[in-house]
Amino acid sequence: MLNLKPARCRWRLGRPLAGVLLGAAALALTGCTRVESPAPVMSAPSVPVREQTYEIGDWCGGACLGLENWPYQVKDGRLLFALILAYDYAPAWRELAQACAAGDATVRTGAMFSDHSVAHYDVVRNEIVVDPSLLAEPETVLAAILAHEVAHCAQRAAARVPDAASCFRRELFAVEWETHVYASLPPSSHWTAWVMGLELRHDRWQDGTLGDLVLTTWQDACLGEDWSDAA
Ligand SMILES: [Zn+2]
Repeated sequence: MLNLKPARCRWRLGRPLAGVLLGAAALALTGCTRVESPAPVMSAPSVPVREQTYEIGDWCGGACLGLENWPYQVKDGRLLFALILAYDYAPAWRELAQACAAGDATVRTGAMFSDHSVAHYDVVRNEIVVDPSLLAEPETVLAAILAHEVAHCAQRAAARVPDAASCFRRELFAVEWETHVYASLPPSSHWTAWVMGLELRHDRWQDGTLGDLVLTTWQDACLGEDWSDAA
């Protein structure tokens, strides 16, 4: 499915990823070092989660697999559509989607706190918020962005990170899943700046430099925080 460069900085998404996270700080120092980290901390389930099929045109061969909870938790039809596509086309990501749905997180469009952000997971409100401007993007882009935020949501207990290194590690985890879901979907119907950005991340993943890209992209967000009050 995804051909990864064998020698340096090799990692796989999917089940192996669930137990192995790369240390972003170590990446910065060495270029590429595999660092064993704790397994993701999943939210404690609070609602039952079941799968069901959805008919979305010709997608998924006529019947897409998704979660029964989503029509109640997802407040926008296009976001619901994108989540179902991600779920059907990227089976390895389903465990995260189930954990997020079991925590009864909601998904909606809304204004961002920052000009630099287009989506975020709010751990206090337990909701994923997506900027309405993204609704014009291809389904593949929406699915990838939601895959990223769902990864944060599934790790709700780890969402309040204690320091910059944890912040980078958290983002790398989410970006790996974002890239995995994007690569699992059929090619985008048309090119946008977001599609090109996701193609770049996919290239960087394949050549083993996605960690470096995360360090650069999240530099302001992770290093600009004041961690002195963090637990
Ligand atoms: Zn993130």
